[in-house]
Amino acid sequence: MVLDAVHALERVAPQPDGSTHVTVGAGIRLGALNTLLAQHGLAMRNLGDIDKQSIAGAISTGTHGTGARLGGLATQVVGARIVTATGDVVETSSTRRPELFELARLGLGSVGVLAAVTLEVVPAFRLEAREEPWALDDVLDGLDELVDGNDHFEFYWFPHTRRALTKRNNRIPDDVHQRLNPVRSFVDDELLSNGLFSLTNRVATLVPPATATINGLAARALSARRYTAPSAEVFISPRRVKFREMEYAVPRAELTGVLEEIDRWIEASGERLPFPVEVRFAAQDDLWLSTAHGRETAYVAVHQYVRLPFTRYFSAVERIVAQVEGRPHWGKIHWLDAERLGLVYPRFADAQRVRNQADPEGMFSNPYLDRVLGPVEGLERVPEAVA
Ligand SMILES: Cc1cc2nc3c(=O)[nH]c(=O)nc-3n(C[C@H](O)[C@H](O)[C@H](O)COP(=O)(O)OP(=O)(O)OC[C@H]3O[C@@H](n4cnc5c(N)ncnc54)[C@H](O)[C@@H]3O)c2cc1C
Repeated sequence: MVLDAVHALERVAPQPDGSTHVTVGAGIRLGALNTLLAQHGLAMRNLGDIDKQSIAGAISTGTHGTGARLGGLATQVVGARIVTATGDVVETSSTRRPELFELARLGLGSVGVLAAVTLEVVPAFRLEAREEPWALDDVLDGLDELVDGNDHFEFYWFPHTRRALTKRNNRIPDDVHQRLNPVRSFVDDELLSNGLFSLTNRVATLVPPATATINGLAARALSARRYTAPSAEVFISPRRVKFREMEYAVPRAELTGVLEEIDRWIEASGERLPFPVEVRFAAQDDLWLSTAHGRETAYVAVHQYVRLPFTRYFSAVERIVAQVEGRPHWGKIHWLDAERLGLVYPRFADAQRVRNQADPEGMFSNPYLDRVLGPVEGLERVPEAVA
């Protein structure tokens, strides 16, 4: 019974401004949430790449999609019910315990266990997806137009090449339908995006010097395509190749310089990288621990195939983004600690204060939290070695 509630839709409340507030158990997976919302003619305004996460895990780590006028998933949260360290069940929102709400909606579980989340959702909508291979230099030259002129723009740059795969997703009226031919969809999603990709990563692992050629071929093999579908189907893609990932939020204006520096480092280092670099965008927001707090943001995500070493590459990228006050995704690989994070988050001290007040005994502490937020005041711990 209790487990059911953690995954269930609790309440659908239409608002005077036309939006709808939906309360769900915090353990619901995004895939199940999207299905429930669709049954009510509703949808999340924006989503990330996959739908396997719980809504609690996704918001707590600052999960985001792409779109220069849109924030991450936690910006869509208008209420959160948490079980605190004292065992109390507390309702939080921007008007009820607002400071606790800040960390309840994006705080790595540091102030309590999320039991339910209230989301501001929108009427269901369709997207037209347009995917095209471009020259990287054309993408960078036309970046502002691409980012501001589309509802959701992102691109993948293939290291060792000047090629990129661009994705432009835009809202369209409900009656426009343009389905992919199912054979084409299988070819693109499974054979090219996943199957071919798995093969290219394996070959690059066995024959590292072939990586540049393979990346060039892969970038060209991904052909242009255009289709329309309900929003969640466009946002979510299958991910069948195992990889490690580090993702940094940087000020949008610094993106081109960051990519050029990464390119220079890759070519000078001799590293062979078969996985593309993913670049996404978000509007600035005011959530204390949001990676897009107070600045128009570009996200640079570097990946490495699971069988290849990653620390040298990721550490180099971390050093490059440090020059522009990069902020790491809370749920992906990075090596920053509270001292450094305090310098790049203007409300970091407030977050630490609220956490200390909410959890003075460190009930919700763990080595990762102690590293990134610092130990709970008065409970000094030896931070675990960074893995
Ligand atoms: C293949 C893949 C694709 C991804 N794509 C994206 C993407 O497009 N965009 C993006 O931003 N991220 C992306 N991520 C990152 C992912 O969204 C986060 O790692 C997310 O936290 C995982 O959710 P989960 O339910 O597995 O979380 P978990 O691993 O279960 O939890 C993560 C953390 O959330 C907190 N938490 C979880 N449940 C609760 C609760 N009930 N109460 C309080 N705190 C809680 C805890 O701090 C926990 O450590 C991706 C990850 C993978 C593996």
